[in-house]
Amino acid sequence: MLAWDASQIRNSRRFGQHLLIDRSVLHRLVEYATLKRNETILEVGAGTGNLTAAIQRRAGKVIAIEKDHRLATLLQQRFRDKDNVKVIVGDILKVSLPVFDKVVANPPYNISSKLIFLLLKRNVKSMTLVLQKEFALRLVAEPGSTNYGRLTVVVTHKTNTELLDFVPKTAFRPIPRIDSFIVRITPKTPITSVNEHFLDQMMLYLFSQRRRTLKGVLRRAMDKGKNETLQDLVGSKDLLNKRIFQLTTSEFENLSNYLYPQRKLFKLLNK
Ligand code: SAH
Repeated sequence: MLAWDASQIRNSRRFGQHLLIDRSVLHRLVEYATLKRNETILEVGAGTGNLTAAIQRRAGKVIAIEKDHRLATLLQQRFRDKDNVKVIVGDILKVSLPVFDKVVANPPYNISSKLIFLLLKRNVKSMTLVLQKEFALRLVAEPGSTNYGRLTVVVTHKTNTELLDFVPKTAFRPIPRIDSFIVRITPKTPITSVNEHFLDQMMLYLFSQRRRTLKGVLRRAMDKGKNETLQDLVGSKDLLNKRIFQLTTSEFENLSNYLYPQRKLFKLLNK
């Protein structure tokens, strides 16, 4: 069965408007989020409000953010009788966000990465999102695979991320080019005591040379004239011989802990 499809917004691809119209997907999305009556849910890009309605029935409160003024007006009309729905007109990347517990959304695809990092800075219990297949696969990629990258490592370092369900492109209107997945991202406290800024800088530098060996990349990043050998610093020859895209998240975390006290030797890693 299809949910409400607002034909008047059909031409707004520039806002990444692909409305989720498959009710069974809407239902599963809300199920996976295990909403509670005392929780406030943030929805990013509420569109015509089909997901908003599903969340509203289960949660304490929904804060629906929508950038397109025409849709925001429709949303306000649709939920004018619901005390527990608050519509905010604005760009999620710019508005000042209210307090919330969880995020449930089918957000615009073009801001997936920015959105996740923005929301991770908040105290959020979980984010249950519909994400485009390629992006979702990058989040959970295995070390050594094509999809594996800085995004995978940073997300694995900060969260438990699960690919829960496949969503075919036919679940949306207009139909996008690419299928999607339901993904649940649950923030965790990193176990190792990593200096986050150093880890970020190190990851940026290392992944700019993803196919090189760790040894080669570090040697280049080291100031000349220092005789501390890399093996003493890192403690493992095997690790040094691996290529950047083959290192696991915990190897990057350990590496960051080894190198941080010696950061003066690695100007390039420590901007
Ligand atoms: N959640 C709805 C709509 C998904 S389409 C549904 O599933 O049917 C994505 C929505 O995000 C569109 O309505 C679009 O107008 C809105 N949007 C795009 N960029 C945005 C931004 N930066 N901030 C908030 N909303 C945005």
